[in-house]
Amino acid sequence: MVTVEIVTTGTELLLGEILNTNGQYLAERLNAHGFNVFYQTTVGDNRERLTAVLRQAMARADLVITTGGLGPTQGDITKEVTADVLALPMNLNAEVMDRIERYFVFRGIGMTDNNKRQAMIPENAFVLENDNGTAPGIWLEHSGGVIVNLPGPPRELKMMFETKLLPRLIKHYGVQGVIHSRILRSVGIGESILEDKIADLIATQNNPTIALYARQGELIIRLTAKAGTIEAADVLIDKLEDEICQRVGRYIYGKDGDSLPLVVGQALAKNKQTISCAESCTGGLVTSMLTDIPGSSDYVLGSVVTYSNAAKQKLVKVAEESLSRHGAVSEAVAIEMAQGVKQLFQTTYGVGITGIAGPGGATSEKPVGLVYLAVAGPDGATRVYRHQFTGNRQDIKYRTAMTALEHLLDALRGNEQK
Ligand code: AMP
Ligand code: MG
Repeated sequence: MVTVEIVTTGTELLLGEILNTNGQYLAERLNAHGFNVFYQTTVGDNRERLTAVLRQAMARADLVITTGGLGPTQGDITKEVTADVLALPMNLNAEVMDRIERYFVFRGIGMTDNNKRQAMIPENAFVLENDNGTAPGIWLEHSGGVIVNLPGPPRELKMMFETKLLPRLIKHYGVQGVIHSRILRSVGIGESILEDKIADLIATQNNPTIALYARQGELIIRLTAKAGTIEAADVLIDKLEDEICQRVGRYIYGKDGDSLPLVVGQALAKNKQTISCAESCTGGLVTSMLTDIPGSSDYVLGSVVTYSNAAKQKLVKVAEESLSRHGAVSEAVAIEMAQGVKQLFQTTYGVGITGIAGPGGATSEKPVGLVYLAVAGPDGATRVYRHQFTGNRQDIKYRTAMTALEHLLDALRGNEQK
């Protein structure tokens, strides 16, 4: 097993000025090839701290890969510090110098003296050529393993990683197998309940491992297996997925790149059914999400944003009595909106959404985040759901829209009694 530490350098990363995409890229690619990334460290352009970070990384990982700090300026110190830590002198490398000179001629731009710094190479280093820039990468073997310096600009880094470093890693360490993940996407179940239902699987996890996390109104279950090939990893993941689905399968709506609007759309298209929405507090968000999916014109026939009482009465025939007796945010109005819009557009399903997105508009009985969602279906029955969401206006709109899609999917799958 090869353990890796990725060291991303650059004060701009610590200041939050740029996103550390190099760290993500390397982690993703290394894991995909079975190299175990155990640590990622970010350090500024500071000699002492970089020295300490490199010492620590070399002590605890077989392979250390740095990014950034290979440029021609005084602030670019990664190569010097790496050589220092290994007590190696730096020499001008004629071949690298020649390449840099040719690069400047090719680009038709003048070369300054400080570019020579880029041709200074630590003794015993193997040079990784830079096909997208001037700074060469460095491969150095030491008693505890290997340290690699890659350039910071993502375009240069990616090219060098794929064409120079990865082949060399595989030659040096041998094929490592793969680390392969599958994502199961669930809605309608809380994180703690979900965790509770698969607690024993989590407690005894090994290969695959299980990770749970909440993201944008859904709960993600990530299963990660290590094996010789992707196919072998899939077999391991299939087994665990079956086990998980037996317990919480009704909450799992899709996998990997699926999204709720996509899965809802696929179900509607497959059944040759159609949908329309009367949206109040979501302001059209559900319809927007549904129509993000290419081909949605086959099943989204139309929607209305009935924000005012007048619009609710006029467009989707909500009764004045329902509004005055129960208020706009009520079970009765949600039901009438769903039925009214279904009638208006002559669709298989009609969705009615009414709620209080806040921050104003709340009363003692109807707090911010109170939402009623109704789904009128082909069997003539209309189901209505009451939810109390939390968060700011955007959060509540988003959660409401996701939950409306969730109930719609339940109806499509005959899954309402979960
Ligand atoms: P450097 O080689 O450290 O001078 O970096 C050159 C440029 O590469 C920086 O100005 C950034 O735009 C970019 N860069 C450096 N490190 C990273 C990183 N970890 N992720 C994304 N971009 C980076
Ligand atoms: Mg830098």
